[in-house]
Amino acid sequence: MEIIKDITNTNKTVSNNRKIEYLVMHYVGAVSTARNNASYFKNTYRGASAHYFVDDNEVVQVVEDKDIAWHCGNDVYYCGARNSNSLSIEMCCYRMSNGNLNITADTEARAVELAKELIKKYNIPIENVVRHYDVTRKNCPAPMVSDIERWNNFKKKLEGQDVTGDTTNNYNEEYEKRVKNWQDTMNLDYNCGLAIDGSFGPACRAAALKYYLYYKIPTTKNEHVKVIQVNLNRHGANLDVDRSFGPATEKAVKDFQRKHGLTVDGYVGSKTTAELLK
Ligand SMILES: [Zn+2]
Repeated sequence: MEIIKDITNTNKTVSNNRKIEYLVMHYVGAVSTARNNASYFKNTYRGASAHYFVDDNEVVQVVEDKDIAWHCGNDVYYCGARNSNSLSIEMCCYRMSNGNLNITADTEARAVELAKELIKKYNIPIENVVRHYDVTRKNCPAPMVSDIERWNNFKKKLEGQDVTGDTTNNYNEEYEKRVKNWQDTMNLDYNCGLAIDGSFGPACRAAALKYYLYYKIPTTKNEHVKVIQVNLNRHGANLDVDRSFGPATEKAVKDFQRKHGLTVDGYVGSKTTAELLK
């Protein structure tokens, strides 16, 4: 898979002969993107780090595999993993309407793909893929600590097993509802023919890109504008939901993009839509 490298200059212990035996899974514990995290760790001493950051769109590597990232401590606590013998993956988060942080199904799927590659490359036994929680009892990754089924399913996915009763979707109930609402709206405004499945996958990204929203381009029925305004308000804007993409909406879009590390252009395309629905 494609991995973007943005290697930190300082938050690591350089090593040339360590043995990689464990893979430790984390969640970021705040709303941010993989690239934002890479920038955060790049040049400033933070006293912490991880090898990989994963979000809905990409994987960014911050510490080389051969080097030691600072993510789960130097001592043995509840299992044999520690900084010096492990790799680490941080999953980025979004905030649910109830205020809790969660990991999207897309981010989790990308983390599974990355984990599979690393397991294969370094011959890491499946029982040595652990949560930060398993190492130190820290509540990390929280959605996979509170929901043990979700963690069990994550492990099954690593082994290529079919996961029945996947709890990722149930857990993402509010997020799914928003995606379904958006899918429904796109079908209504543009006859996109999207499946109303609550998952913001490739077809949704393509539709969001093709029918991007910008204030000079009116939509057919303007339901699309409404759904964007509602979601901008959910993220802290204070717009009249008037179904009209005027200067106030454009400004709210730009503010949102600035806050979320997106290109600040006022266009609601694929990436901005994906972020807005979180
Ligand atoms: Zn952690």
